[in-house]
Amino acid sequence: MARLAQTAGLTDIQQEILSTVRDFVDKEIIPVATELEHRDEYPQQIVDGLKELGLFGLMIPEEYGGLGESLLTYALCVEEIARGWMSVSGIINTHFIVAYMLKQHGTQEQKDHFLPRMAAGDIRGAFSMSEPGLGSDVSAITSKAVKDGEEYVLNGQKMWLTNGGTSSLVAVLVRSDEGLTPEEAAAKPHKSMTTFLVEKEPGFGEVRPGLTIPGKIDKMGYKGVDTTELIMDGLRIPANRVLGGVTGRGFYQMMDGVEVGRVNVAARGCGVAQRAFELGVSYAQQRHTFGKPIAQHQAIQFKLAEMATKVEAAHAMMVNAARKKDSGERNDLEAGMAKYLASEYCKEVVEDAFRIHGGYGFSKEYEIERLYREAPMLLIGEGTAEIQKMIIGRRLLEEYRFQG
Ligand SMILES: Cc1cc2nc3c(=O)[nH]c(=O)nc-3n(C[C@H](O)[C@H](O)[C@H](O)COP(=O)(O)OP(=O)(O)OC[C@H]3O[C@@H](n4cnc5c(N)ncnc54)[C@H](O)[C@@H]3O)c2cc1C
Repeated sequence: MARLAQTAGLTDIQQEILSTVRDFVDKEIIPVATELEHRDEYPQQIVDGLKELGLFGLMIPEEYGGLGESLLTYALCVEEIARGWMSVSGIINTHFIVAYMLKQHGTQEQKDHFLPRMAAGDIRGAFSMSEPGLGSDVSAITSKAVKDGEEYVLNGQKMWLTNGGTSSLVAVLVRSDEGLTPEEAAAKPHKSMTTFLVEKEPGFGEVRPGLTIPGKIDKMGYKGVDTTELIMDGLRIPANRVLGGVTGRGFYQMMDGVEVGRVNVAARGCGVAQRAFELGVSYAQQRHTFGKPIAQHQAIQFKLAEMATKVEAAHAMMVNAARKKDSGERNDLEAGMAKYLASEYCKEVVEDAFRIHGGYGFSKEYEIERLYREAPMLLIGEGTAEIQKMIIGRRLLEEYRFQG
């Protein structure tokens, strides 16, 4: 199945990493994914295997014990992993975003303290912007930090933390109006937000004084990985756990993290779509109707042609967005386009593979049933389709400003 989604110009090291990951996915993830997903069971053995492969430190610089690889290598690994089971890519994604934010914005002490143990997979990261009343509109965040001597006291409720229970470090975005009048804070909501690095015990309940992780949210798909709320009630965080050491920069730090996260979600869409294509093309050659394999009916061949074209197009855009970031250029336009296209195409390819399976696609015995419940998450996470189109539209108007 190697014909689709090839990437030209990879180094020997990149090819070696990808082939190792692909092998791991085929042997250790695909055979157990559907069963674990149906039980909503955390894939501990798979996570241990990823730790051994060094995947938790893939993009963390070598000086901190990571592999120091590029965003492209990371995205291609995520594509492979999501081909096996999207939830597993979710386990490493928030970790990767937090490690990236630390690398880009952390103080030296914060990097030294967290990155080596994050590279080893011993500390695992989650990131938290969303609240019960907001997701797209980050500027409306209501959780608050108030300074009290050398500490900050945090209060508020967060929603939808991927890895909220299993993580031991959460990057939490809250409002910190310190130094601003209420009028200034209201006029510049983005300038009055701060990211706190909150360490906690993994698990549920009161995981640190003032910090509660109530339990797992029951989801339609994307199971296995825990998604939780987070409640801060007088949570005290020392001032040296403000990301970068300076308040008021949280919004920009988070947006930087989400931008690489978008390439990552695009990569997931590519991986899930590839798997759906593999399942569809295989089933179409085995199922017979009207005296021949359904793959010999032109209507089904057309579906396969459309699916494969979408897999190729999404992969090309995802690779382009990752390479742009790796070259040091701004990639918000490309990342927004890649995330938008890959998630929409993923949903369509999965639906076509589901249709090819006829009634069996509706049975939990078939893998496509799981993919059908997983694909919609990609339309929402790291910014909905509407939010991507807002980003793309704004950037296009900057690039193509009317010179009248
Ligand atoms: C399984 C899962 C895991 C998640 N993990 C995390 C996580 O780890 N950390 C985290 O912080 N968040 C996480 N999220 C939250 C996710 O980022 C939000 O759900 C997402 O940003 C959308 O926000 P919302 O759900 O509040 O929808 P809303 O913002 O309420 O949007 C509702 C609808 O209105 C549309 N809309 C909103 N504003 C506009 C506009 N201006 N113009 C046009 N249409 C608009 C949206 O596109 C959407 O269709 C997760 C969500 C899920 C489902």
